[in-house]
Amino acid sequence: MLISFVIPTYNEEQSLEKLYSLIAAHTPAEHTFEIIFVDDGSTDGSLAVMKQLHGQDSRVKVIRFRRNFGKAAALMAGFAHSDGEIIFTMDADLQDDPEEIPSFLAKLDEGYDLVSGWKYPRLDPITKTAPSKLANFTIRAGTGIKLHDFNCGYKAMRREVAKEIKLYGELHRYVPVLAFGRGFSVTEIKVRHHPRQFGHSKYGFKRLARGLYDFITVIFLLQYTRRPMHFFGGLGLASLVAGVLIDLYLLGVWFTGQSIGTRPLLTLGTLLIVVGAQFFSLGLLAEMISYSILSREDEYTIREVLE
Ligand code: UDP
Ligand code: MG
Repeated sequence: MLISFVIPTYNEEQSLEKLYSLIAAHTPAEHTFEIIFVDDGSTDGSLAVMKQLHGQDSRVKVIRFRRNFGKAAALMAGFAHSDGEIIFTMDADLQDDPEEIPSFLAKLDEGYDLVSGWKYPRLDPITKTAPSKLANFTIRAGTGIKLHDFNCGYKAMRREVAKEIKLYGELHRYVPVLAFGRGFSVTEIKVRHHPRQFGHSKYGFKRLARGLYDFITVIFLLQYTRRPMHFFGGLGLASLVAGVLIDLYLLGVWFTGQSIGTRPLLTLGTLLIVVGAQFFSLGLLAEMISYSILSREDEYTIREVLE
């Protein structure tokens, strides 16, 4: 079986050579492999190292981005260029240990479609682990997927998974979520994690905020891509009903002869009606977009067909 290792790389010149040898050493001999380095606009010597590895071993492929496009984009490019039956994603910084390759393969053998690493114990500074714990808890609660470590870059999946999911922006963290949403079986294994030896982390505090927006996006994508009106319609209806009730009440008050023109409640009621109508139009627009843009075939995923 051919195994593809997709390795997004941004300024990791000191790690690549060792990573290459470790992967070669730990891929079980009954499998063949290819390593796809995606150079995500590195400004150090990463590309030179990749080229040198490519020159000495034809199993090493290199994809070079014109500039830094981010990890999700790098993974997508790697997936698109990979031929493996099984596809691994691994960080380039040697924090993920190639010794774990056989454990991932064993788990896939049990029938799972995607195996996600769980860095345990995690060897990163507390400034990274604390926000990460919070993020993992939220994602677990929001999606119902029982993984401990959504942000682990170390994963193994069947080819179908990599070809099926679409990543962009910062969505690489949600690979297991998106895969689960498409009906694939997802599990995790504990993996040894090493502190970063060379270079420095590409992600700082900013990623917490971004992670929150992405979380909202992913929840929305999972539940409502195909039926946006069910989301906007619900909000719209709630707002509309509240607005109408308030204004009806005020109408009743007006009939008793009191003046209502200066009541703050009038503003609120009217506002709620307008906002409700807005939500409805948003929902309809989203439905039209989803109807004309999303292809019908993407609505479902087929495991197999017997004819
Ligand atoms: N990476 C990338 N593009 C980016 C940022 C990071 O390809 O814009 C790669 C990076 O080279 C590494 C992996 O993504 O191989 C994980 O990055 P990092 O180690 O900085 O993340 P951390 O381990 O600190 O969460
Ligand atoms: Mg790292």
